[in-house]
Amino acid sequence: MYNKNAWKSYSKEDLEKVMSFAEGYKDFISKGKTERECVTLGVKIAEEHGYKNIKDCKELHPGDKVYSVNKGKNIAIMVVGQKPVEEGLRVLGAHIDSPRIDVKQNPLYESTGFCLMDTHYYGGIVKYQWVAIPLALYGVVCKKDGTVINISIGDDPSDPVVGITDLLPHLAGDKMQKPAYKAIEGEALDVTMGSMPLEGEEKESVKAHVLKILKEKYDFEEEDFLSAEIEIVPAGPARDYGLDRSLVAGYGHDDRVCAYTSMMAVIDAGECEYTTCAVFVDKEEIGSVGATGAQSKWFENVVAELVDLTTSYSELKVRHALENTMMLSSDVSAGFDPLYAYVNDSKNSAYLGRGICFNKYTGSRGKSGANDAAPEYFAKIRNVMDENNIHFQTSELGKVDQGGGGTIAYILGNYNMNVIDAGVPVLNMHAPMEVISKADLYEAYKAYKVFVKHM
Ligand code: MN
Ligand code: MN
Repeated sequence: MYNKNAWKSYSKEDLEKVMSFAEGYKDFISKGKTERECVTLGVKIAEEHGYKNIKDCKELHPGDKVYSVNKGKNIAIMVVGQKPVEEGLRVLGAHIDSPRIDVKQNPLYESTGFCLMDTHYYGGIVKYQWVAIPLALYGVVCKKDGTVINISIGDDPSDPVVGITDLLPHLAGDKMQKPAYKAIEGEALDVTMGSMPLEGEEKESVKAHVLKILKEKYDFEEEDFLSAEIEIVPAGPARDYGLDRSLVAGYGHDDRVCAYTSMMAVIDAGECEYTTCAVFVDKEEIGSVGATGAQSKWFENVVAELVDLTTSYSELKVRHALENTMMLSSDVSAGFDPLYAYVNDSKNSAYLGRGICFNKYTGSRGKSGANDAAPEYFAKIRNVMDENNIHFQTSELGKVDQGGGGTIAYILGNYNMNVIDAGVPVLNMHAPMEVISKADLYEAYKAYKVFVKHM
């Protein structure tokens, strides 16, 4: 099944499964526009399948289904296995943060009859892709009294949208001479919030009007932006892409496509020999740092909790559990784009429609920063994939010295566990509209499921 076009192998029955699985996923990314929204959806889906919050459990036994949430931005969904936790878990780890534009702490200002909002982009965005498109606002505003207000504006068809303006080509003479990375400056990514003055207001009356609307609809003041986290993301749902409906266009495939498939794989695999876990991490796009990134001690704490709830606790058991774990770093690969063939080595590229893609290593400039998975480990995985008829391929991120990138693989590798990157190939990665193949989506789901069951 290595490097073959998955579509050619599907029966009519298979095709129906591929298409219907994609519907569930489209719904997930259309609603899961931020890491917080993905965790909320994760909890909802897990509870619908009978999972309980680990906090409410006094002890755990094989077959028990639990989840753990961290600060509203991480979730681990787990099924306790037949073997002791000490013998290791089977983990699927994906990140649920995606490149976007964040709102500054002191954001609002008025200029020439417009109320604008100042931003600071998050992750590796190509700035010129984010102007002149409809955008939505998501996030939380946290008030001094402890109230947390949820914001979601722009995805309900009755909502207004916001956006970032761009210069007309007629007057873009100077701008067009700039290199692409400077054509739109980071400080110029300011969002238009309104243009109608508030009646009876003399100074900054347009801004006053926007603030009045925020007060009336969401009950917060300008000062509350100080402790807010508002993310600007593309507005609108994921859509079928291509006349044959073989592809999905949407925001945030990187890496919610691997998050959704990992979660559904653990849920659908049910009770296995080893404890299974799908874990969603945050902050991957800015280095996996902080309390909710993969470098956080949170996941280690979850494993410690599993040990504690299944047996008599010892720190050594926790270390053994981590060391004996096998993991897939469920993250997307760069799909081969025929319009930009020159950035790839064609025989080491990921092609849309050829199934889940394994990356032995990532990194840049001589594999710098790569986890570089053990070949002994990948040999076992290949065997499991082949025995279960999973379409898979292997790739690396572009030609040598063309660029590069990283994932969370090396961070979990620090526990001395076996980890390899495995995910869905993506076109337009990090753009407001990314593209994946429904065949790869389905093959990734199946691959994750056989990994947690049979590895
Ligand atoms: Mn990623
Ligand atoms: Mn990314």
